[in-house]
Amino acid sequence: MQCALCRKTAEVNITRPLCGECFLKDYESRIRRLIQREKLITPQDRILVAVSGGKDSLSCAQVLHTLGYPIAVLHVDVGVAACTNPRTRNVVERFCEERGIPFYFLSFSEYLGVDMDEFFHKARRPRCATCGMLKRYVFNRFARENGFTKLATGHCADDVARYFLKAWVSGSRESFLWLEKLKPLTPSPHPMVVARIRPLFFSLEQENYAYTKLRGIVVAGCTMCSFFLRKDSWTEMLHRIEEVRRDFALAVARTLARQPEKGEANDTFQECQICGEPTSREICAVCRVRERCSPLTPTGKTG
Ligand code: AMP
Ligand code: ZN
Repeated sequence: MQCALCRKTAEVNITRPLCGECFLKDYESRIRRLIQREKLITPQDRILVAVSGGKDSLSCAQVLHTLGYPIAVLHVDVGVAACTNPRTRNVVERFCEERGIPFYFLSFSEYLGVDMDEFFHKARRPRCATCGMLKRYVFNRFARENGFTKLATGHCADDVARYFLKAWVSGSRESFLWLEKLKPLTPSPHPMVVARIRPLFFSLEQENYAYTKLRGIVVAGCTMCSFFLRKDSWTEMLHRIEEVRRDFALAVARTLARQPEKGEANDTFQECQICGEPTSREICAVCRVRERCSPLTPTGKTG
């Protein structure tokens, strides 16, 4: 098969056949145009990229770096060995070292001063939901305390489509209102909340995977939620829909990006009475669980 742009032999065929060189150019320039069009990054911004070590967030960091934006990277040990471990940390640290990108690391357990098994148990919710809540808390707090003005994540069109399906099927008001904010840029709603950017909003998982391959980036995928091994029902649904409507994920991402924010989300913040972080309740969700856990002693054991 020939490259649709230059007629050389195609190496990638995701939305159309492209040779490696044309794919890289096309992928990066689409993201550059998105950043400029939606003003994701301004010259004054200090950008922190949250990188798990998987193909999406590494692609995000690589593109921003290639496009010349100064970035720093944060990798978090979430306390679930299948998700983060010494290998994921090494992969992200090496990636940064090789490119001269400042690297930051922290562990949920040390940051919160609790044992993560106990925290996940006491949270009484699925681990992924608790982990998601902690990531939002820790990313925001770390970014703000270290003077970053934008927090970039590797969320891509497939993630957006999965959120969309979940929100519609669960019917929960919160997830519905959250969809309103799911855009390439979520501006800061409060001085203590750092703005979010999602430069891969219109990129597909398969494209991110091809990008890391072609750029020779070493990836350490989470064995629970990596692209090839992800087995949750939302991914399965998405794949089935895409058998009949190939551009479903992109179409959803485009639709959501165009929706005006109705401003119905609960954006009234107060400071958590325990940790001081912004929250809609008196005590934030993280502190409510942490209060039920025993504190870690200096040796790392629960006291
Ligand atoms: P997930 O919640 O696993 O779908 O991840 C969403 C985004 O959060 C990823 O694209 C990354 O940007 C970021 N992220 C997830 N896990 C980590 C981690 N352990 N350390 C740093 N960033 C992460
Ligand atoms: Zn709190």
